[in-house]
Amino acid sequence: MIVNEEHRADLIKLAKEYKNSAQSYPADENGEPKKAYLEYLSLMWDPELVKIMLELPIMPKLLAIRKLAKTLNIDKNKLKAKLEEPAKRGFVVRVGNLYARPSPLQIHDMPFILQENLDREDVVKFANLSREYFDGGYYKTWETSRSGIPRTRVLTVQEKIEPSQEIIPIEAVYEVIDGQTDIALFPCPCRSRREIEGNRKCKGKYPINNCITFGVFAKALLEMGDPAIIAITKEEAKKITNEANELGLVHMSDNNAPNAHILCQCCECCCGNLAGLTRLDNPRCIARANYISSIDEDLCVACGTCIERCKFDAITVEEFAQINPDKCVGCGLCAVTCPENAITMKRFEREDIPARRGWSET
Ligand code: SF4
Ligand code: SF4
Ligand code: SF4
Repeated sequence: MIVNEEHRADLIKLAKEYKNSAQSYPADENGEPKKAYLEYLSLMWDPELVKIMLELPIMPKLLAIRKLAKTLNIDKNKLKAKLEEPAKRGFVVRVGNLYARPSPLQIHDMPFILQENLDREDVVKFANLSREYFDGGYYKTWETSRSGIPRTRVLTVQEKIEPSQEIIPIEAVYEVIDGQTDIALFPCPCRSRREIEGNRKCKGKYPINNCITFGVFAKALLEMGDPAIIAITKEEAKKITNEANELGLVHMSDNNAPNAHILCQCCECCCGNLAGLTRLDNPRCIARANYISSIDEDLCVACGTCIERCKFDAITVEEFAQINPDKCVGCGLCAVTCPENAITMKRFEREDIPARRGWSET
């Protein structure tokens, strides 16, 4: 709750300092932070905490607690104790004795990932407010950088890529997993948020616990010691992704060349990245895979199973199935369940992979 005008002014200042970070902040046409976002931030940071946050750098930059205490003129141990609970909830980032202000992505997702938050009463308020500012326009900033680069990319179901076709490692689910040493499994914040709101359309159809993260992000999450975050092996990660595509979830990863930090299993109804295509209006919400489904007309029996599997209305069936290349995102989900094995994924160059992180560009 915003308790007074000074609290509001500090929250506005803090939100605006995210202007040049990836995902920025939900703003109105004048650049002012949306009311629902300020309310949401006030649930994380009371008047005293927001003043501490204003002295902290934004993740991934970190500041030693000793320096923070000096700047704030507070006893170091008292400050540590004050930050203990916010750190457990992900409202301040703690890596050993170093601290940071959460990134916009962490602000939006942390309340719905950690068991520490899921057990709290205020989680419903977090869910309702985040839905309000996200659907109210923030999804465009969330999904696509200012220069129009989608922050996430579809990965094709690897087994369904025709053997003769070129596979670039960063476009292949197994290679993305194989290149990692630290892997963490955590609840999908988008489905979790809907679950809390009581309006998850895919309840009973898709599980929640199948978001995967790698490297420093995995390490930082695991270091929190929250029971909802689990370390997994490469084999476990592959099993989870296989189960996900059999169920009909789209694999998504970072839209950049060097390496992946996330491997999402996305649904059409809850996912904040697919939302621009499935329920809102952002055609550049995701980068499509450089593959397209291809039908063997001789094998196709026009059963229509693939129509049910496609979340993007890319298939029509008359005498045989036909693919609309403008709508197909190259996920490969249709190929997984074709009873006649009539669908394979063929190379179809259409989306360059940026050399740097799409999601870190504002
Ligand atoms: S992007 Fe997709 S899988 Fe990842 S958290 Fe959102 S819905 Fe879940
Ligand atoms: S699922 Fe396979 S056999 Fe059935 S319509 Fe689609 S391509 Fe044809
Ligand atoms: S046709 Fe649909 S299900 Fe098949 S690869 Fe394209 S987008 Fe995915």
